[in-house]
Amino acid sequence: MKPLHPALEPVYADVLRRNAGEIEFHQAVYEVLESLNPVVDKRPEYVDASIIERICEPERQIIFRVPWTDDAGRVHINRGFRVEFNSALGPYKGGLRFHPSVYLGIVKFLGFEQIFKNALTGMPIGGGKGGSDFDPKGRSDAEIMRFCQSFMTELYRHLGEYTDVPAGDIGVGGREIGYLFGQYKRITNRYESGVLTGKGFSWGGSQARTEATGYGTVFFAREMLAAKGENFDGKKVTVSGSGNVALYAVQKVHQLGGTVVAMSDSSGYVIDEQGIDLDLMREIKEVQRGRISEYADKRGAHVKFVQGGSIWDVPVDVALPCATQNELDEKAARALVSNGVKLVAEGANMPSTPGAVAVFQGAGVLFAPGKAANAGGVATSALEMQQNASRDKWSFSHTEERLDAIMTGIHARTLATADAYDVPGDYVAGANIAGFTQVADAMLAMGV
Ligand code: GLU
Repeated sequence: MKPLHPALEPVYADVLRRNAGEIEFHQAVYEVLESLNPVVDKRPEYVDASIIERICEPERQIIFRVPWTDDAGRVHINRGFRVEFNSALGPYKGGLRFHPSVYLGIVKFLGFEQIFKNALTGMPIGGGKGGSDFDPKGRSDAEIMRFCQSFMTELYRHLGEYTDVPAGDIGVGGREIGYLFGQYKRITNRYESGVLTGKGFSWGGSQARTEATGYGTVFFAREMLAAKGENFDGKKVTVSGSGNVALYAVQKVHQLGGTVVAMSDSSGYVIDEQGIDLDLMREIKEVQRGRISEYADKRGAHVKFVQGGSIWDVPVDVALPCATQNELDEKAARALVSNGVKLVAEGANMPSTPGAVAVFQGAGVLFAPGKAANAGGVATSALEMQQNASRDKWSFSHTEERLDAIMTGIHARTLATADAYDVPGDYVAGANIAGFTQVADAMLAMGV
């Protein structure tokens, strides 16, 4: 971690004081603030107008009780959150995460990242995030439905196509968005398609939204390689995770000529030197919602399942962390570097610890942060909002072309910003500065 500019030290001290114990949020803020050191000298008006303090404090934080009944008739209580972080560029936009680790600090870190990510896309969307400590694992469809209905029974009053537009994140996919949208429609008696994204294609969703985050990450990595005169052809790749981001990253890597040799879930990882069989993995993970060890059982003797352990020990040219925050630590980064990794692009939100980022940057590995590399998901959500607003439906190829152009644009803007602020090739600083200055200028224009 770099030291902060003296003008930013009191800002960070306030963040620590106001958000005690929220370590993931502290980490996300520090990473942005350390990137802003060169901005503070060039643009003192941001400090004079307290823009940086303001950006670190959410506009609104909603916490609510979510009671629901399981299949045996027992009542459970979970906690729901929606942090409406910043609306300078548009309605709050960001996903909902259902996972037992969710608490206010996780939602705030994700909401904070979302502000800059959304700005980077160049689309008119502000930043927010929500979720619950509900654990969907092992729950029946009927239980998931009752939970989503209860969650929306409180959340609906805070949403609106011009106010706040949630989508999915970990634990929230097409099934959950369906139940949430159904309840919103039932309560309000309004078919407001633009109030949620990630909907099914036949009822207001966008083609390629499911694929968008994974595809976008690989498009971004392709641009990073291209800037060095390289491509995916023949590259060995690790994709951690096996959710929606990971699965479609694998698909796009294979389409571009690379080979994904390892994937993981919370129980361990598999190594398949012949390349991951995506149809089989999708069947196990998307349809059966099973464990990754079943992939090894079904695919054949050449596949190894490693229980626990670190997927980052597998030697590869490209690593795409697509599971969750802080999944790749300093030790893992050293293992990757010693095995010759050339590029790391984050499909998840903040999967690399600050120590890992320092190892990659110190070793000259091309490293792209999630808020640039995984922005394809939310960008395609914004495309879904466009289709909803114009009551239109685009084809898969048209939507994918738009996504590709957006990711190529984010890559170019990130590098150009890094150059303009004298940190050439630094994707972390470039993304943070490019996202921040857009939001900050809008906030300045709109007054206190
Ligand atoms: N949860 C996704 C993200 O981390 C997508 C959010 C959205 O589409 O609103 O960016």
